[in-house]
Amino acid sequence: MRAALKEALSRGWVRMVALVCAATVGARIAGAVLSSEIHFSATLAEPGKFSRLEVALLLIGAGISIALFFRRFGPILCIIFRSKKDKDFSLHPIGRRMWDFFWEVLCQGKVIRQRPLPGLAHAFVFWGFLAFALVSLNHLANPFGLAFLRPASYVGNFYFLFAAIWALLVAVSITALFVRRFLARPIWLGEKLSYESGVIAFLIFLLMVSYLGAFFVGDGGAAVKALWWMHTLTLLVFLPLIPHTKHLHLVLSPLTVFLKRDGFSKIPPLSSDEDFGLIAGKDVTQLISLQVYSCVECGRCTEHCPASNTGKVLNPKEIVLGVQSYLNQSGPASDAPLLTEALVESRDNPPARYMSMEAAFECTTCGSCEYQCPVGIQHLPIIIGLRRGATNTGAWEDTHGTKLFLALEKQGNALGLSAMERDKFIQKQGFPIFDGTQEYCLWLGCMGGYDPKGREIVADFARVMRYLGTSFGVLKKEKCTGDPARRLGNDLAFQTMAESGLKSFEATKVQKIVSICPHCVRTISNDWREYGIAPEIEHHSEFMARHKDRLPQQNSGESIVYHDPCYLGRYRDVYEEPREIVARAGELVEAPRSHERSFCCGAGGGLAFLGEETGERVSHVRAAELVATGAKIVSTACPFCNTMFRDALSSMGDAPPQLLDIAQLTARALPTMQKTGER
Ligand code: SF4
Ligand code: SF4
Repeated sequence: MRAALKEALSRGWVRMVALVCAATVGARIAGAVLSSEIHFSATLAEPGKFSRLEVALLLIGAGISIALFFRRFGPILCIIFRSKKDKDFSLHPIGRRMWDFFWEVLCQGKVIRQRPLPGLAHAFVFWGFLAFALVSLNHLANPFGLAFLRPASYVGNFYFLFAAIWALLVAVSITALFVRRFLARPIWLGEKLSYESGVIAFLIFLLMVSYLGAFFVGDGGAAVKALWWMHTLTLLVFLPLIPHTKHLHLVLSPLTVFLKRDGFSKIPPLSSDEDFGLIAGKDVTQLISLQVYSCVECGRCTEHCPASNTGKVLNPKEIVLGVQSYLNQSGPASDAPLLTEALVESRDNPPARYMSMEAAFECTTCGSCEYQCPVGIQHLPIIIGLRRGATNTGAWEDTHGTKLFLALEKQGNALGLSAMERDKFIQKQGFPIFDGTQEYCLWLGCMGGYDPKGREIVADFARVMRYLGTSFGVLKKEKCTGDPARRLGNDLAFQTMAESGLKSFEATKVQKIVSICPHCVRTISNDWREYGIAPEIEHHSEFMARHKDRLPQQNSGESIVYHDPCYLGRYRDVYEEPREIVARAGELVEAPRSHERSFCCGAGGGLAFLGEETGERVSHVRAAELVATGAKIVSTACPFCNTMFRDALSSMGDAPPQLLDIAQLTARALPTMQKTGER
């Protein structure tokens, strides 16, 4: 039956017939109302009396409904409470939590902003539910003589009419959402049709219609009673379905949004020396359990995921649902591994395929999934947690990964080059060594210190600083921040790097740091906090935007498309500063996906140092999108994006757009005498 229905719905003509039928029924109802076959009364008709048998039936029905609800909800609560405690959890800052609750839950701000039309339809259903809470309570209290809202009273009559408006909005919205899910079927909702969603949508529709119907039946006893029972039975069937379906988010998501970890894409500290990350069920924390049971399966995370969009196995929604189904099957005390070893072993088993090591290590940590999720699920602590479990225990074996970790350990930089190379570059550029007298420490990072293009960016940014008369120096010895080790789950390597960096800053009495790399900025300002507080650090876009009035302006009139780096935009909320710089150099063009919705370059999460990607290359997809804007220049504000686009653009015809960092755009306008040193 299900298969037949699925097959039927997949055919265009069946969808068309269904649409025509729906339109005909709607038109018939509207026609009946307009032609006065049905009379609208401004007062809700409610049954006056209930027999003892009816009261008994209601009590039995309610008892069964509540019991069935807790039959599933009870075990879920047990799983959440029995999961490991989150060591770092704190309700602080409470103000931010209350704001998120107000904006994301009560205003449905995130839902509407990310997908305006379906979001608004969803918001109407949610607000309608809130408006209906009193009506439903009153409805069930009526047979016991405990009704607190009476149609005859002014307050009651007003409220019932107010709820009727909401009932109408909910009925229309749920119909639209049904049509979208079952007839339009956007791909990110998944290939599988969710029949339970169809049933729930029908029940919500029935709830609204049975309520609205009571305005059209006058005082007719039997009809009023029939509508009352229809409404009640629908409520009693609806309640136990909630915990058995993804509609559990109705109960859990307000809590999930309120309790989510403070900070975007924050990687929590390991709880003890015995904690190696998410290896098995016993490592899953209460916050993760709560979050995975709140998933509404909307697919927003997958829709925006660069890995999912380029043919890789990683699917953030399936990671969340994979942890959920693991907890259902094995429980939070299990020692069974969360990740399957290899894709090849799990090819015929979709859940295992999505929970594979391959999938976990395909994440660029771009944060799109977490940014998009409307119910406060934080994917990065889960995905990085899974990587930690695999890397810290040696279960992840990857030649590129091993080479990277060895390079960090032996050379102190991710490119595996000798520190002498950096020394030579510093000397050629004439960069002073930081000695505590300069205002800024210019942090080079692995890319700025060792990569040829990264060096060009640093050199041009140093010219800008010199032009402004800002004193700066570079550290005599500088190691990687540990960003790739951190994101690939190697906690020991990361800790070594972080502690070494903090000691260098302390020894040289650094007060302010500036860097061309958003990954370094994020890691030093945020991740290092686990081991100490680093001096204040800012990105060169913030620095230049702050000094823009003192910088020469030379608008060439060329069109420049700016690519938002994930670690500068979503991670640091810096969108306008680099645009201010770009707009001074030429005509700013926006890519179709920009700002918070920017598409990753593919380098983050340590992936710049791993081997070939499967499927399409993320950098090529993004570069093609930037080229399609027709801009003459592609501008970036991250040396990793720059290196990824360098390769991608070189494979795109004979005359690809020029690729320039915002520091290079600014340096172009400086007097040539400001150019110091060789590159
Ligand atoms: S962080 Fe980015 S790459 Fe990783 S799962 Fe989320 S959307 Fe996909
Ligand atoms: S994790 Fe969030 S965004 Fe992804 S499907 Fe679930 S609710 Fe939607």
